[in-house]
Amino acid sequence: MHQLVIIGGGFAGLWAALTAAREANNHAADVRITVVARDKYLTVRPRLYEVFTDAMRAPLNPVLTPLGIQLKVGVATTLDTKAKSVEVRGEEGNVTLPYDRLVLAAGSEQRPLEIPGAAEFSLNIDTFGGARSFDRHLREVLRSPAQPGRSTFVIVGAGFTGIELATEMRNRIRLHSDADTARAARVILVERENVVGPDLGTNPRPHIEAALRDANVETYLGARLAKIERDAVTLASGERIATATVVVTAGLKAHPIAGQLRVELDRQGRVMVDPMLRVNGVPTAFAAGDIAHAHTDDDHVALMSCQHAIPMGKFAGYNAAHDLLGLPLRAYSQPNYVTCLDLGESGALFTQGWDRKPEQFGLEVKSLKRMVNTQWIYPPTGNRDAILTAADLDAPWPPAV
Ligand SMILES: Cc1cc2nc3c(=O)[nH]c(=O)nc-3n(C[C@H](O)[C@H](O)[C@H](O)COP(=O)(O)OP(=O)(O)OC[C@H]3O[C@@H](n4cnc5c(N)ncnc54)[C@H](O)[C@@H]3O)c2cc1C
Repeated sequence: MHQLVIIGGGFAGLWAALTAAREANNHAADVRITVVARDKYLTVRPRLYEVFTDAMRAPLNPVLTPLGIQLKVGVATTLDTKAKSVEVRGEEGNVTLPYDRLVLAAGSEQRPLEIPGAAEFSLNIDTFGGARSFDRHLREVLRSPAQPGRSTFVIVGAGFTGIELATEMRNRIRLHSDADTARAARVILVERENVVGPDLGTNPRPHIEAALRDANVETYLGARLAKIERDAVTLASGERIATATVVVTAGLKAHPIAGQLRVELDRQGRVMVDPMLRVNGVPTAFAAGDIAHAHTDDDHVALMSCQHAIPMGKFAGYNAAHDLLGLPLRAYSQPNYVTCLDLGESGALFTQGWDRKPEQFGLEVKSLKRMVNTQWIYPPTGNRDAILTAADLDAPWPPAV
């Protein structure tokens, strides 16, 4: 029996497993597929800026079990590409999983800012646990006795996530207190570059700036944090801002397990893969999602996004299974690129193409964003046949917009 091990139960890992299972099924092949995941859930990370709910993660077993995929809950600690094995620390202690093919889909994680106080006093919305802690903190701080900085909320990083959180922030404050408190709160967005959304380019910026103004978000541009304390932040300029809440959204890097492959990594710590998503220099390993540096076409590299992680996962699963079975592989390609950015009460912005040309803006787009976040990126539901159909490499993703 062939062994396929997939590290990571996120978007890329889940879809790699489903597509590999579909191919094994189509070719009546005996392939044991094991997904190693930290817990039994897919965390729907794109939702973590929203008002917190348990629905921001979806159980993996209802979608894996019907296809006979095994879920091993634990942390992959050691990769041995020579012995072709993965060591996993889980509830049963350490176990070694041998593999014939590996799909590395361990995703990305936000590293703490390297400044005093960051580890102790900053929050994040990078993981389900992080988002839950942030929500708990919000509730506690808003119910605590008045003190300087209690109603000041500092968000670090004006990238995609920071903008979405900043424009949603007053809504979240209102839900844990009341409309007056939400209106009076200071929401501050700190960005080290001189513009908001530096990586999003110039085209969407006017919409973003207008939405931040409408949401009464104060922007500190060209600014860096130097220190975080329990009740204040200090900027590199020396300015001190009293606050009990600092959420960091900047500093995303590929998961450090990528380093264990001992191959070239890009600036974000991602492993370089060929068009088949095979790791350069490691013939038995494929990589997909935030941990892989893959070309989507001749001119662009995949971003750390679900939009790329899902199709990449499917290609990696397909190719890993085909490689095991001696069948032809298919090159990953994804020339179309869109964004759908939530802008709080202003609605949302839909852009088309790599230059992010705005196509639609406002409340109509907000319902599209809701559909993406609450339906399209969730695992497939239904019986085995429905899951196998969704796992077809040629099934459209994203659904037509
Ligand atoms: C707040 C926020 C908003 C976002 N908004 C958007 C958006 O609007 N649109 C969009 O397209 N993308 C968005 N993204 C990005 C998107 O969530 C990621 O690109 C996507 O989750 C990547 O999928 P992945 O499977 O590669 O990694 P992940 O989803 O990170 O999954 C990797 C999984 O592997 C697990 N893992 C890591 N190491 C190990 C190990 N050693 N052993 C076992 N398991 C391990 C992790 O715990 C995780 O569950 C957002 C992200 C965040 C945080």
